[in-house]
Amino acid sequence: MLTESAMEGLRTTLEEERESLRSQLSELGYGAQLDYDPNFADSSQVTAERGETEALVQNLVASLGDVEHALEKFGSDRFGVCENCGQRIAEARLEARPEARLCIECAAKAR
Ligand SMILES: [Zn+2]
Repeated sequence: MLTESAMEGLRTTLEEERESLRSQLSELGYGAQLDYDPNFADSSQVTAERGETEALVQNLVASLGDVEHALEKFGSDRFGVCENCGQRIAEARLEARPEARLCIECAAKAR
């Protein structure tokens, strides 16, 4: 089990990550109209040049979605539990990636 102070550390990491992702998105001009639709960058009219930014934005939005999702679970018993198999996610993995939704075994299988 993670200690309370370790949990606080993870929450701080997630909140900082969320702020960082949001500011990167707003610098790219995607702050205001962000709708968390992971498919929004798939539009076929995207030009090659814009495509690079779109791909970056898509990554940022996906990461932000994971971070917000983890923060939503924080404080409930769902945090730190694999969403696929229900096993506890290893502490070392959570410390490296507090937004992880899957345990390392499931993440490896999902790839
Ligand atoms: Zn799992």
